[in-house]
Amino acid sequence: MADTPTPLEVRNIKKRFGDTEVLKGLSLQAQKGDVITLIGASGSGKSTFLRCMNLLEQPDDGELFVHGERIAFKYTKHGREPQDWKQVVRMRAKLSMVFQSFNLWAHMTLLENIIEAPVHVLGKSKREATEHAMSLLERVGLTHRAKAYPAQMSGGQQQRGAIARALAMDPEVMLFDEPTSALDPELVGDVLKVMRDLANEGRTMIVVTHEMSFARDVSSKVVYLHQGLVEEAGTPEEVLGNPQSPRLKQFLAPKY
Ligand code: ADP
Ligand code: MG
Repeated sequence: MADTPTPLEVRNIKKRFGDTEVLKGLSLQAQKGDVITLIGASGSGKSTFLRCMNLLEQPDDGELFVHGERIAFKYTKHGREPQDWKQVVRMRAKLSMVFQSFNLWAHMTLLENIIEAPVHVLGKSKREATEHAMSLLERVGLTHRAKAYPAQMSGGQQQRGAIARALAMDPEVMLFDEPTSALDPELVGDVLKVMRDLANEGRTMIVVTHEMSFARDVSSKVVYLHQGLVEEAGTPEEVLGNPQSPRLKQFLAPKY
């Protein structure tokens, strides 16, 4: 629909750590239902870019729009920072992030992990949040683990639990940072299955991944980063099927 606000747009994002410019002007627009995969060598800036999108890192330059709303920045002696942290809290509630290292709170059961933000950030009743959480647990195949603590769960279960927790905020965009990279190989499939289901039901997603078959099958767009710049971007057919730059060709080539 033409009048639906763009869920997420970033323009010309730059970020330096000390003397190193890690992001050199990155732009990206996610329309509703888009699945954008970010690929690139280790150190190319994928995580930093994702973290700038929900302001876990503060970009030094560039603009962010969440659901059409522009994030306002101010300059202080410490550099550039958001003008209004209440706005950041609001925008973060629309962008749920799933990390490589699961990140469930260890002292809470899975169910408690999932209802925490809906109750404390969205102000839902515990009962309503619990009902929603149980339906999400069913979707990710974890109904039987609701009362388990993270340490009692496999990595794959923890990651599916983290996805359920992200979904509990009913986010406009889901950000994934290598969600299967820390998993034993036999646990990767279940997590990718959940992510494929989300993609197929029209969730807007931005996914950093090394899972090329996932990227090929579900992406509306693939973006290849090299040293903080977009080196190539397009449909999976273009970027993965017919790469142009020698560097991308080499990146995609079988490693043995
Ligand atoms: P990727 O996710 O593609 O592997 P990152 O975004 O993690 O890349 O890192 C990009 C570059 O930024 C790397 O050179 C990394 O060492 C550097 N970097 C990332 N985070 C920090 C930080 N907090 N402080 C200093 N350097 C960082
Ligand atoms: Mg990374």
